[in-house]
Amino acid sequence: MSLAARVRAKARPVADGYAPYVWSASPEEVAARYGVPAACVLKFDQNTPPLAGVPQIPLAESMARLNEYPEGSYRELREAAASYVGLSPEHVIVGAGADDLILLLAQVFLGPGTQASIESPTYALYQIATEVGGAEVVEGRATADLHWCCNPNNPTGEWVEAEELVELARTQSDAIVVVDEAYIEFGARTCVPWVDELPNLVVVRTMSKAFGFAGLRVGYGLAHPETAALLTERRAPGPISGPAAGIAAAALREPRLLELEDTLAERERVRTALLAAGFDCPPSAGNFVAVRSDEPLAERLEQQGLVVRAFDGGIRITLRGLSDNDVLLRALGAEVGAPSARRVTTVLRTTTETALRLTLALDGSGRTRIATGIGFLDHLLTLLAFHAGFDLELLAGGDLEVDEHHTVEDVVAALGTALAQALGSREAVARYGSATVPMDEARALAAVDLVRRPHAEISLGFGGERVGGLALTLLPHALERFAMEAGCTVHVESSGVDDHHVAEAAFKALGQALRQAVAPGGAGIRSTKGAA
Ligand code: PMP
Repeated sequence: MSLAARVRAKARPVADGYAPYVWSASPEEVAARYGVPAACVLKFDQNTPPLAGVPQIPLAESMARLNEYPEGSYRELREAAASYVGLSPEHVIVGAGADDLILLLAQVFLGPGTQASIESPTYALYQIATEVGGAEVVEGRATADLHWCCNPNNPTGEWVEAEELVELARTQSDAIVVVDEAYIEFGARTCVPWVDELPNLVVVRTMSKAFGFAGLRVGYGLAHPETAALLTERRAPGPISGPAAGIAAAALREPRLLELEDTLAERERVRTALLAAGFDCPPSAGNFVAVRSDEPLAERLEQQGLVVRAFDGGIRITLRGLSDNDVLLRALGAEVGAPSARRVTTVLRTTTETALRLTLALDGSGRTRIATGIGFLDHLLTLLAFHAGFDLELLAGGDLEVDEHHTVEDVVAALGTALAQALGSREAVARYGSATVPMDEARALAAVDLVRRPHAEISLGFGGERVGGLALTLLPHALERFAMEAGCTVHVESSGVDDHHVAEAAFKALGQALRQAVAPGGAGIRSTKGAA
């Protein structure tokens, strides 16, 4: 026997047919296998949201302390998780993702001679965690030492009432009932309110799904304080990196689950289209839908560069943005509306001072979700987007404890970049726009030329220094930066008595001017000289 084989022989035996966790193919693998360009491969297999969560704290401080271990009780993260679910920090355990907690639970409660129940199909890690520990998996909810319950269930999206799982924990009080609520934000009701009453009930959660932080590897669990203490005593000393714990804590303290509504709307739209096309697609309470089928759908889709998750008896499709979902629906032969030539773009920007994500749709309806941490800036950008008819989603976390300078500058720069990207070739747009907007005693004038000559003439007649949390001197500079990044000419003049009015009128006027300039169907920037 080779030395390597002898090492393998020393490992604790696992059940016959033990199957390790397998990830779906990467874009590069799919590209190589089927000759599809890697950039055209779309991944519908990870049950993660299409856009990344944005850190709501500046990272510089935690990044500067990478020589130190994280604070080992993860007090800040536990406090944040506790307030998010309505319990106390003593109820919270933490781990490197829900997966880490699943493995910990198996290590603490299972071993040779014990049994754990699952209801197939379900999340593959329950079986792995059980078998690696030398325990046995049983199907269905007969008696067992531990019950793995996934609610809503991955991969089917189906869910049960919380009371049903609570009843299981009540009637089988000698068994541990683990309720994995990785997808709870998308639908089903939580079992969290019962953990105090039932010390054998453990709820597992993750930052990987609704929060968009799968890359951070942060999960948390909720249990009776004594059960939580037991699990904490047996976990690794520092399972989560300091920066990851800090980002997760900030997100839990102030949840901004911006894509949630869109995902829910897409879930119903996609499911309706699949049902209409004759597929068996059960209702789902996750950020994914399942299609039950015996046909090799996953393989067929993968040949076209569309990666879904296959399970025994069907496929699981993670919901992405509207246009990506349409690609998948078409590939399955389902009806979708006419493809929208939407002028939409997303800009991600992360520096040591700020982190932001901005999605701009030029042909919107003035719908905004803006959170920069500076209330008055949010207000001005909301007005600008509304008057321009843009949809604007903007999430930023900056080093506001220094001052608002970096955040303001990076936000407007990103807005300019997004405008430039969304405009594309600028060939068939109105090009010019101008507006005069009064606001009580104040009056502003804005004029815009989308020609690719970055130039700004900004004159804002402020009497004071600040409005709310915003230093007004930053605004002219911000508008200049916007013009530079957008690659266009921007003139804005505004004057009045009340600084709030002066600023508001300026942003409204700029919005109105932009609305005219980006309007489709014009001659664009082909000028009398033939080109811009
Ligand atoms: N539980 C379920 C039901 C899952 O589907 C997943 C990941 N797909 C996880 C847990 C893993 O979560 P985490 O990223 O926090 O390890």
